[in-house]
Amino acid sequence: MIVDCHAHFEPRMLDLDGVVRKIDAAGVDRVVLIPAMNDLLPSTPELLLKTVRTLMKRAATRPLAEAIHRATLDRNGNLHYGGQTTVIYPLPDNGAVAEVLRARPDRFWGWIFLNPKADPDVLGTLERWRQEPGFVGVKLHPHWHDYRTELLDPILRRCEELGLPALIHLGFGARGDFRSMAARYPKLTIIAAHAGFPFYRDLWRYRSAYPNLHVDLSSPYIDERLAREAVAAMGPERCLYGTDAPYGFEGPDESYDYEAIKGWIARLPVPAKKKDGIFGERFLELLGR
Ligand SMILES: [Zn+2]
Repeated sequence: MIVDCHAHFEPRMLDLDGVVRKIDAAGVDRVVLIPAMNDLLPSTPELLLKTVRTLMKRAATRPLAEAIHRATLDRNGNLHYGGQTTVIYPLPDNGAVAEVLRARPDRFWGWIFLNPKADPDVLGTLERWRQEPGFVGVKLHPHWHDYRTELLDPILRRCEELGLPALIHLGFGARGDFRSMAARYPKLTIIAAHAGFPFYRDLWRYRSAYPNLHVDLSSPYIDERLAREAVAAMGPERCLYGTDAPYGFEGPDESYDYEAIKGWIARLPVPAKKKDGIFGERFLELLGR
């Protein structure tokens, strides 16, 4: 069973029928959708992505990547680059994903998007949406929602109690304190998005210290080489297939290319059984399914 554990529901780029057509063609059984958190982004030049990836790989140059990131955030918390402002939604619409889960429970699950900085009743929001069948965990984005991870304490405590995994797009510094989260909630499944962006190997080296820490292998925030390094460092059982669709990896039809990241995993130098784990079996175990 192939499960894409990190994709965005963004019907302005790829509507529901489009997603189903794509995953049918790619042989992906299920997708776990994240509610849209932003207006459509200008496309990021590959050279810029590559430069930022390189800067983030080392602790010494990571502050430069952070400075570039901070320079793209305006006073209202929106992104500003490429001569364009992209609005970041403080409260992404979980209802839009809930509708998909009702329409196609056979192909989709969902992440409940929470933002402790903008939601005075964030635990109430969690309780409300977790009643909806098909929501399997929470998505947190301290990077773009721009808050310190200590704000997440009540949410992480509740997720640990409920056995819900947390998918976290870590930010820089105190916005990405994965060590304190993993240590304080040892029974919580933490999935660091994009191979542990922006820390990469500085997160992977805590593999043994924090058995609850996992990474997904999604998005052009990483490349095939970084995905390989992540699997070698974390071990295949701590790495999960994800795409970040519909962002990045444009195919010949000018829409999302579902084969790109699948190819990275198919070409990994690990036994087929381990690949099956990455492709979805491990994620199902983490969900207790
Ligand atoms: Zn994403």
